[in-house]
Amino acid sequence: MIYYRELKLDRASESRKDRGWLERQWTQPDCRILVLRNDKSLMRWRDREADTPEVIKLARAEIEKLEPGFDHVVFLGLDDSAPLFALDVSQQHGQGLEAVFRSNEFVDLRDVGWLLDAQQAAQLAYARGLLFWNRHHRYCGVCGSPTRSENGGHMRRCTSHSCGRMHFPRTDPAVIMLVEDLSDPDRPRCLLARNSRFPRRVMSTLAGFVDPLESLEETVAREVHEECGIRVGEIEYQASQPWPFPSSIMLGFRARALDRDIVVDGVEIEEAYWFEVEQLREFGEWGDAGDGFCLPRRDSIARYLVESWIAENSVDR
Ligand SMILES: [Zn+2]
Repeated sequence: MIYYRELKLDRASESRKDRGWLERQWTQPDCRILVLRNDKSLMRWRDREADTPEVIKLARAEIEKLEPGFDHVVFLGLDDSAPLFALDVSQQHGQGLEAVFRSNEFVDLRDVGWLLDAQQAAQLAYARGLLFWNRHHRYCGVCGSPTRSENGGHMRRCTSHSCGRMHFPRTDPAVIMLVEDLSDPDRPRCLLARNSRFPRRVMSTLAGFVDPLESLEETVAREVHEECGIRVGEIEYQASQPWPFPSSIMLGFRARALDRDIVVDGVEIEEAYWFEVEQLREFGEWGDAGDGFCLPRRDSIARYLVESWIAENSVDR
């Protein structure tokens, strides 16, 4: 399974350009609002033992004291026919906010994503990515004037009459690749590495951002060579995952190693090894208390790439 995909909302991307339509959605009785603060989402734990938080969707009456202007609200879409918005309260303080808090708390989706219903997790990821973009694009990158939100937060327009530039949410492409060594057909191996930003013990696939004027395959080859000194061929696309942490899409590949000797860059990658299927089966879970190597996070496409590779290489053994 790949998390944060296949969002079932109707994004109503044409209708949302009409301010009147958007305001009518905002006043619908079945309109619901996700609330986020500094990228964290409002949730509630019914049962701490169960470890699964409940996503909170508020009705408009419940956020009235916050008096949100449309500049802090984004339209996500129609859930069946019920309008779903997200409100950013990062700038809010005081009593209105306390009313929203009650027994709720702001939780980082990245800590709980895989515990949630897949649609709810995807909705929260969407809300987080879109609100992040709006919060970080309050000024025009061309002339420096303030921008204002339009199209339900899916566009920001420069308020300077002489400029008026339209800005759209950006998505940064990144490749992520499982490199395999098939030089001994009876003992396939895959390359996993520990990035210096990862928790100790976590081994994952290599990844990197696409440079300007670079094809995805070129990025795969460059990153693997830079980080681990391995040249690769037979680069094949596998799957993709929206990754709004804060604004990427992960493009998953598999590549065939042409070299065996790993030379880590020592900066981004601290250690990297070849692993056989049997070794990967011994890996612990991300965040567990063991002392051996761990698999990547459960909600990452890295995990999907590794698990797919294990499954494929287990079939005829
Ligand atoms: Zn401007």
